[in-house]
Amino acid sequence: EEGQEEEEGGEEGEDDDDDMNEGNTVIGLLGGGQLGRMLCEAANPLGIDIAILDEHNAPAKQAHNTNRHVVGSFKDPGRIKELAARSDYLSVEIEHVDTEVLEDIEKNGVPVEINGEIVTHRPPIHPSWRTLRLIQDKYLQKEHFKSSGKTIPIAEQIAIESGDAALDSLKKAGKQFGFPFMLKARKGSYDGRGNFKVDSEDDFAEAIKALGTLPLYAEKWAPFVKELAVMVIRTEDSDGKLKNCVAYPAVETIHEDSICTKVFMPPRDVSEDICEKARKLATEVISTLWGRGVFAVEMFLLEDASLMINEVAPRPHNSGHYTIEAVPYMSQYKAQLHAVLDLPVPDKLIPRVQSSIMLNILGGAKPDSHHHLSGLARSTYDDDMDVYLHLYNKESKPSRKIGHITLTGFCSVQELEAKAKPFIDLVDQIRL
Ligand code: ATP
Ligand code: MG
Ligand code: MG
Repeated sequence: EEGQEEEEGGEEGEDDDDDMNEGNTVIGLLGGGQLGRMLCEAANPLGIDIAILDEHNAPAKQAHNTNRHVVGSFKDPGRIKELAARSDYLSVEIEHVDTEVLEDIEKNGVPVEINGEIVTHRPPIHPSWRTLRLIQDKYLQKEHFKSSGKTIPIAEQIAIESGDAALDSLKKAGKQFGFPFMLKARKGSYDGRGNFKVDSEDDFAEAIKALGTLPLYAEKWAPFVKELAVMVIRTEDSDGKLKNCVAYPAVETIHEDSICTKVFMPPRDVSEDICEKARKLATEVISTLWGRGVFAVEMFLLEDASLMINEVAPRPHNSGHYTIEAVPYMSQYKAQLHAVLDLPVPDKLIPRVQSSIMLNILGGAKPDSHHHLSGLARSTYDDDMDVYLHLYNKESKPSRKIGHITLTGFCSVQELEAKAKPFIDLVDQIRL
């Protein structure tokens, strides 16, 4: 008899339908790439369940076991509603989602069955669909900052006509801005994929060929000496009023061919005064938006030491990866969870280390081009530099972000850079 009971217990334990996250708060996440994966890595020890809407076995799904994941596209209204029905809150790891359906869910809710009764379920959505919709259109995003009543410097910009009028419109941009200027897709771009540098009138035809089918705008060239980024945590009262914007340290971001390759904390050869100004400006920018969560503010540092806003990302960001190890008590991922769930957020974000460097592992010419680099990260132990490898388990393709390495030290960022030279050299080699 006893044996039988044990066997029954064993069978029950193996039941696939068991809810291993029963009772845990569920955040439904649109998108399951590496940002979602690192969000799950932060959520797991906190007992927060993440239901991910993306392809089967997407990087984030691999990092969190739940029976609430949804298979499908984060642009598919039906699947988004399905996710909403099984979530206590909704959030995103990518801004290119269907915001019409998010607006609909906020206003009308989704039907769910509880004890045989159909009730309307309204999971709070953070950040707000308003913010996502605005940020999706890079041109409107910056028009909003311009008219926000705050002093938010942006590059001069003009909308570019589509179709046959594009050429005249480009001529107008060339006249107004001079050359070079940047032609950008208003929507859907990432890692610089929607950008075209226009050096002269001779480039117009090629620019139209490259981007001409998309809604476009042109931006005056920003002659920056450096690019900086600041992550900000935005919190709100329960009635939706802005509570606080808390900034992480400013970092220096290096973009090569428009894709972020390296991040330095603190920025090299930038005064503390400028870093403080960058943080202040970032909180101003984020205060004009809606909803809770972490946000990235990308900016240019110009020759005259002034700052200019490039764009905002309404989610954890590549420039904030370093916080996993450098601000471990409140990484950008933990901050996203705390902000979305309205849990306490610190009002100061102080790194536990003096300096940090984040190196992106981008796919190289061959599927194994990055193996030397990951191997070096696995085998390096140094009294003065800690090495943290993150692989996303994504298929390697040229220039695709497939992992990153964070280095931390209790020395100046320049000294850390010198120590990190073998890593930096390999990162540069993969790109050649
Ligand atoms: P992300 O992956 O950050 O979302 P994205 O595709 O949205 O990138 P942007 O941030 O608009 O692209 O631009 C990518 C990079 O191109 C910038 O980080 C900067 O290096 C360069 N860039 C963009 N706009 C300008 C400009 N007006 N003048 C000079 N360089 C620019
Ligand atoms: Mg962008
Ligand atoms: Mg950008």
